[in-house]
Amino acid sequence: MAQGGVDSSWSTALPGASFNVCFDLRMGEDKTSDVAHALEVSTSSPCHNDNIPKPPPLPVAACSKPKVKLLSFSYVPKETMETWDKLFMEGYGADVHILTEDNTIIPAHSSVLGVASTVMRNYVTQAKVKDGIRYIKILGVPSSATGIFIRFIYSSCYDQDEMKNYGLHLLVLSHSFSILSLKRICINVIEQSCLTTENAIDVLLLARQCDAPRLSLICLHMIVKDFKKISSTEGWKVMRKSNPALEQELLEWVVERDSKKQELIKKMEEKKIYLQLHEAMEALLHICKDGCRTIGPRDKLLKGSQIACGFPACKGLETLVRHFSVCKIRVPGGCTHCKRMWQLLELHSCICNEPDYCKVPLCR
Ligand SMILES: [Zn+2]
Ligand SMILES: [Zn+2]
Ligand SMILES: [Zn+2]
Repeated sequence: MAQGGVDSSWSTALPGASFNVCFDLRMGEDKTSDVAHALEVSTSSPCHNDNIPKPPPLPVAACSKPKVKLLSFSYVPKETMETWDKLFMEGYGADVHILTEDNTIIPAHSSVLGVASTVMRNYVTQAKVKDGIRYIKILGVPSSATGIFIRFIYSSCYDQDEMKNYGLHLLVLSHSFSILSLKRICINVIEQSCLTTENAIDVLLLARQCDAPRLSLICLHMIVKDFKKISSTEGWKVMRKSNPALEQELLEWVVERDSKKQELIKKMEEKKIYLQLHEAMEALLHICKDGCRTIGPRDKLLKGSQIACGFPACKGLETLVRHFSVCKIRVPGGCTHCKRMWQLLELHSCICNEPDYCKVPLCR
């Protein structure tokens, strides 16, 4: 039997369903390489130095959809969906038997399967026929997941909790068989309910293999953000061994994030210094022009500390000015306080826009 499909082993933890899963989706009687090809999506990602792009927003309808049972959103009459659901459940007139992982058989109809997906059509067409029944195998995912998958093909019905439990498996199936409506639902459910720091690495790998770029980006953001926690998970350890290139890529993202953070801190520091200087300049002008508390221009008499001062830098500057007026060294490079005062005076004289009337010492 020719086999095609995903060949990736991950330990996967889902909320509500803790299990170790080895996704090795295998489809019996499948001689085409369609599925294998579809899954051979490059796991390498563009290595650029920009920030990780933000995942695009979901369409409004899709955002609210997964929270509500599908039936209430459908324009198809309830009875029609029930008929299709019944056809799946009862397998009336089935001409295909789908063999699942635990050897259970799901009866189905070649016409329904074939109409839903050309991949499935090829698959069914090439299946072995015995007594008028075609036999196909879908292995590598739990039989429950296969059941949910086939039911969806019939009636688009699904159970929200089942979808959460088997979201990752169903993503593989819907991608492999090109059932795009189900794939979209799976991606939404995984994004909103299944993605955790524990399985972020596995989901990232899966998202890349199943060509789900938005989900990949969401995982990437999560990994970079929660790197410390995620890098100690089992998923990370497994990935390190099996996919060192991905580890390298993720580490680069983290390094870049850190350097951006450092840059931001530096910018904020610079801004802080600039603000302090600005305040000092304002206070200097205020002291030399109006005077403040005990210090002021020579032509003005001050009434002690009665004047309420709104300049935050004033008090410190007052002390500095006082020191400057009495310091014996008072040469640039001499006393550190005087040096600072010189710098402030120099800076003021550079930026002063009315030097002719200015009362700041040495302004002109
Ligand atoms: Zn003041
Ligand atoms: Zn001094
Ligand atoms: Zn001036």
